[in-house]
Amino acid sequence: MPPAPKPEILAAFEAAKGFMPTDEGLALYAAAVGAGRLGLPLLEVGTYCGRSTILLADAARGAGVTALTVDHHRGSEEQQPGWEYHDPETVDPEVGLMDTLPTFRRTLHRAGLEDHVVALVGRSPRIAALWNSPLGLVFVDGGHTDEHAGADYEGWAPHVAVGGLLVLHDVFPVVEDEFTGQAPYRIYLRALESGEFTAVSATGSLRVLRRTAGAGRGERAARAGQADRAGRTGHAPDDAPGPHDVAAARR
Ligand code: SAH
Ligand code: MG
Repeated sequence: MPPAPKPEILAAFEAAKGFMPTDEGLALYAAAVGAGRLGLPLLEVGTYCGRSTILLADAARGAGVTALTVDHHRGSEEQQPGWEYHDPETVDPEVGLMDTLPTFRRTLHRAGLEDHVVALVGRSPRIAALWNSPLGLVFVDGGHTDEHAGADYEGWAPHVAVGGLLVLHDVFPVVEDEFTGQAPYRIYLRALESGEFTAVSATGSLRVLRRTAGAGRGERAARAGQADRAGRTGHAPDDAPGPHDVAAARR
């Protein structure tokens, strides 16, 4: 049996505003518990009102790690006024724009999970450009255009540690409309074609992949620092570079 959230966590997830169906949430939770064993943070792109964040946060709590969640909180294209996925309750009347941050804060507080989450508020590529440490899991559930999904993949997938998981939402191999998942499907194919990720499971539109090759960017940086420190003190680094590091260094 895959690990499942306690009834109160599942209830908080189901009560939260958001877009993730329960079967996909359970698959995300099981992936997060597994990835948590690496002892590295779990990161989500696409917080919205915190529905999926609840599951990552509870898995992070169990593993003694932190869940990170990235969003500018102004909504994706299809969530804007006049579009299919718009929710008028998410508009800040003072500025006249969507702002899902207050609802997200309430969601996490109610679920008792605030202490296990760090919210990163801003554009995903801007935050990714500053990121420099390995992650146990990256869950991509942000914008559905090629521009956004592509940038999320390029910005965050390199930080997934070897053995860590890349989880993608809204992967729809068949075209239904302009917003149903063609860009997420294309990044799914890119991940497989890279040769660095191996498909683990599929549940609805959720895809779980494991990094089986190519050291993540953060790991390379961490090892470079280790080698640097070892150089200064005259000690050898704990783990000598393997073939993946050599390949990675050439890229
Ligand atoms: N995971 C959520 C749903 C996320 S909806 C759930 O379980 O319900 C997608 C979110 O991605 C929106 O809140 C939107 O604001 C955010 N988003 C879209 N493009 C983004 C970008 N480039 N940078 C940061 N956030 C982005
Ligand atoms: Mg989604």
